[in-house]
Amino acid sequence: MCGIVGYIGNNVKENLIKGLEKLEYRGYDSAGMVISNNNEFIVEKAVGEVEKLKKKLNDKDYTGLGIAHTRWATHGEISINNCHPHFSSDGNVALVHNGIIENFENLKSYLEKNEKYFYGQTDSEVIAKMFDGELSLNKIKDVIDKLKGAYALAIISKKNDEIFFAKNKSPLYVAKGDDCFYVASDPSVFSERCQEFYSIEDGEYGCISVQGIEIYNKEGKINEKIAKEIDFDFTTSNKEQYNHFMLKEINESNKVLENIIAFYEKEEAFENLKSFDVKKYNRIYLVGCGTAYHAGLIGEKYFKERLNIDCFTRKASEFIYQNDIINENSLCIFISQSGETADTISALEYVKNFNATTLSLVNVTYSTLASKSDYVLNICAGQEKAVASTKAYLAQCLVLLILAKYFIKEDFLSVLKDFQFDYGNDDLIIPLAKHLHNHEKIFFIGRGFDYITALEASLKLKEISYIFSCAECSGELKHGSLALIDNGLPVIVIANDESCFAKTLNNAYEVKSRGGELILFSSIDIDKEIENNFKYIIPINKCKDDLMPIQTIISLQKLAYYVAVERNLNPDKPRNLAKSVTVE
Ligand code: GLU
Repeated sequence: MCGIVGYIGNNVKENLIKGLEKLEYRGYDSAGMVISNNNEFIVEKAVGEVEKLKKKLNDKDYTGLGIAHTRWATHGEISINNCHPHFSSDGNVALVHNGIIENFENLKSYLEKNEKYFYGQTDSEVIAKMFDGELSLNKIKDVIDKLKGAYALAIISKKNDEIFFAKNKSPLYVAKGDDCFYVASDPSVFSERCQEFYSIEDGEYGCISVQGIEIYNKEGKINEKIAKEIDFDFTTSNKEQYNHFMLKEINESNKVLENIIAFYEKEEAFENLKSFDVKKYNRIYLVGCGTAYHAGLIGEKYFKERLNIDCFTRKASEFIYQNDIINENSLCIFISQSGETADTISALEYVKNFNATTLSLVNVTYSTLASKSDYVLNICAGQEKAVASTKAYLAQCLVLLILAKYFIKEDFLSVLKDFQFDYGNDDLIIPLAKHLHNHEKIFFIGRGFDYITALEASLKLKEISYIFSCAECSGELKHGSLALIDNGLPVIVIANDESCFAKTLNNAYEVKSRGGELILFSSIDIDKEIENNFKYIIPINKCKDDLMPIQTIISLQKLAYYVAVERNLNPDKPRNLAKSVTVE
């Protein structure tokens, strides 16, 4: 999930750092750069965030070329040795890599037998060691023909004036500005200085130099590609008055709602779905990972309530092992904020083998997932910087609701136009966070829609507070998980559904009888007697059933946020995680 950037022009150091700052959402285990100057390499590496690398740099800058990397480790510990760039044995070639080389062990043992010495454990270093002595387009082709797996590569040598690149599965873009050239994992890196860019496709490779951009296809033939205009808004958001992006982004929920209404109100929003007839399909699959998977579960409910079609939600990473019936009558909806989620892209490629129709819901409309899908819907969430997804989850749920209604020609915007999210009561949520922050385990329970909210709330809490948490269907507790309840274990009960409130309460009382501590998140009015069973009660604003899970998650996102803050953690950059998950 690393981010790579290569740059040719003036102020190489400054521009590489700017690029890394834009790419840091892809990983922040370590950061490094190499600049080629007068046939020498100037190298700087740091463990941790880009800021740490920045602090190590002196003021001297260069005109010329360089490559840089921000890492999310897949192979090898987080250390200076494993920090990219990696070097060939003779030290003449330097390389940055995003991806995973699946056959790296075989390649490594072959190279070791040929007396290559490895200073680290990464799969990426193996590629670097394959470049000894020579860097040319032919050599690149020769090396990538031997690689199995995912890679976006930027490679330089002490002697060449080009930055070479190659791509398979990991995203890669190149661009030319007025006085500079770029190669990067994400076009946001060069958006300020370039008007257009090229998307590099799997199997393509090439080089950039002051002479221009050369791109070759798998067969080694020059590929005349059409440049895409940079018409996306890449304005980097800042924290404004907030301490963290996560809280800012939660508080943008109403802005997202407004964006979605403004976008879907336009006739052309559904332009690409004009020829679409949902009645053609007998099965709908909603596919995503993590939070996007939970949005899929919410979408499944919206669809099932309206369409007479079987709907199933699948975790992208597991989809290909399910042996589901998929054919030309299947509609597969892929959900990914970045549109670069490797598991989701693989799932999409899998269903294409069965001639299924593919539709993707993305926040980044130039992404790989979008470009590979038959149909694309924009979730209009705006840039989301915190690793833990908040406003994008809301947006995914809202666009799935719009889609479900659009399919049956139901008015899909009037309900939303009359609606505003309530941001929850901090005076109640913060004291609860203070109470919970020292606990080691927390349970979430709910039924129906509320169970999905429990799943998402539990994921949010664990990913940013590192407290062990899990979600269970209220009715399932007694079939096993109840054994885990002991004195003082907090159990958060999410209960908005009047039709099963009594049952959920019974399940909550079963917890209480065994010493569990009950906390309620609910929109239902309760009397004193019920109230007395709960140590904390967080009221949720009542709204239409479809919107209830989206409304409820806001208070639970905030709870996770405040618990992380109480634990002195940075909720924006949780350990071991990255925003865009581009490895399987
Ligand atoms: N596999 C490489 C490493 O561990 C790159 C990681 C990635 O792109 O996620 O350093």
